[in-house]
Amino acid sequence: MSILSRNTAAAHPATETYARHVNPAFVRLLGVFGYGRVFVRARGVSLWDHEGREYLDFLSGFGSVNLGYNHPRLVARLREFLLEDAPNVLHVGPSPHAAALAEALSQAAGPPLSMSLFANSGSEAVEGGLKLARAATGRTAFLYCNGGFHGTNLGALSVMGAPRLRQPFEPLLPQCEAIPFGDLPVLEQALRKRRPAAFLVEPIQSEGGVVLPPTDYLKQAQALCKKHGTLLILDEVQTGLGRTGSLFMYQAEDFVPDVLVLAKSLGGSLLPMGAALTSRELVIKAYGTMERFDLHGSTFSGNAFGCAAALETLRILQDGHNGKPGHLDLIGNAKRMGRLLVDLLRERLAGHPLVREVRGRGLLVGVELGPTDRGLWQRLAPALFRGVAKNVLGQWLAVRLLEHGIVAQPASQEWNVLKLEPSLLIEEHHIRQVVGAIAEILADYRDLAPLLKDVASRVGAQFASGWSFR
Ligand code: PMP
Repeated sequence: MSILSRNTAAAHPATETYARHVNPAFVRLLGVFGYGRVFVRARGVSLWDHEGREYLDFLSGFGSVNLGYNHPRLVARLREFLLEDAPNVLHVGPSPHAAALAEALSQAAGPPLSMSLFANSGSEAVEGGLKLARAATGRTAFLYCNGGFHGTNLGALSVMGAPRLRQPFEPLLPQCEAIPFGDLPVLEQALRKRRPAAFLVEPIQSEGGVVLPPTDYLKQAQALCKKHGTLLILDEVQTGLGRTGSLFMYQAEDFVPDVLVLAKSLGGSLLPMGAALTSRELVIKAYGTMERFDLHGSTFSGNAFGCAAALETLRILQDGHNGKPGHLDLIGNAKRMGRLLVDLLRERLAGHPLVREVRGRGLLVGVELGPTDRGLWQRLAPALFRGVAKNVLGQWLAVRLLEHGIVAQPASQEWNVLKLEPSLLIEEHHIRQVVGAIAEILADYRDLAPLLKDVASRVGAQFASGWSFR
């Protein structure tokens, strides 16, 4: 019997087909949460479901939609590309589109990051960085941070700081060691002991719960890595391309990584694109001979269509084109709107017994939910409360927001942190709408009892409807 066989009158036909042929557990989980929607249209900061309801998007495809959905200037460029009859994948000569993108990325990232190793995803771009580090240094070990997220292929999983995602696939690469994020003495000790090829780190741990490092951590980590002959690979897959208020976050931190990993928004949300940027010196060391020139790469990496999309995306971000008449400084907007979002959330949620912290940078903001010492139940039953907070609170708030016409999700590895990550086109009235909705929802839930009652009645209704997708 179908998992969707009851009460699915309004379900989009793709729901059943997706459950049957792609991912049944995902569809079931959406049913359990009451998060069932099929989104069929997207434009700018808005999404529409198949019944025509409009939603304000504060998820941005986990950071892939910095330009907003289907940005008109990008769409126009891609249409134009399709009329050019350019060879998309060829690999028997230098690609003009890959060359143009690599040059633009080099100018945007600044010296010495003048070379691009292209990829089709963040995981693949991370893999490119790891392989380069081994090939260029002749060393084998890697360091990474607890709580870090770098992708799901076997290379990236080897340096994945989320054990739940890693463990089913072990054993992974040997000699990979996790260290605490933000701890320089432990980093130095590990660098000395292991002599690793690379230290892989995110500037902000996004999926790990929007965790910011201490001031100057990244800059000092880079200095330590240099001292010990280890490459610092900075994973800006989620923070990059304007999200944190500068094109790349390291540019506001006064250092340059040895390798910069990009993906997600690089393809403007329309094409899968990734890249590991690095110095000419490292590329020559790793792949600079005729025996080694083809040791890294794949059929579609650096494909012309993806490169054209990425180049236009970069130009739009640099020009500040907001898709409307007149121009907007998109990256400056990320900084201003992000500050407003954090300030308003802090103001409206101050002293709330379920809110531990509001933190973020630019338009990567987290609201950490969970036990504070301000609630009665939290003092009486802290273990129960911690369990509820960890597994339920963030998803519950996401469902409530969906009912207010807002799409947002908890960090994928820390469900008690609601992540707010809208596109860089977002305007002040949107920010006020979302903060107002969060404050209004949470105003009725100042302790565990009403919250558990609401969760129980929702789960009960979903159970009674056969976990229907609605
Ligand atoms: N690095 C970071 C920081 C990410 O957030 C992600 C995806 N969430 C990845 C790498 C992996 O990217 P992809 O899903 O495109 O493989």
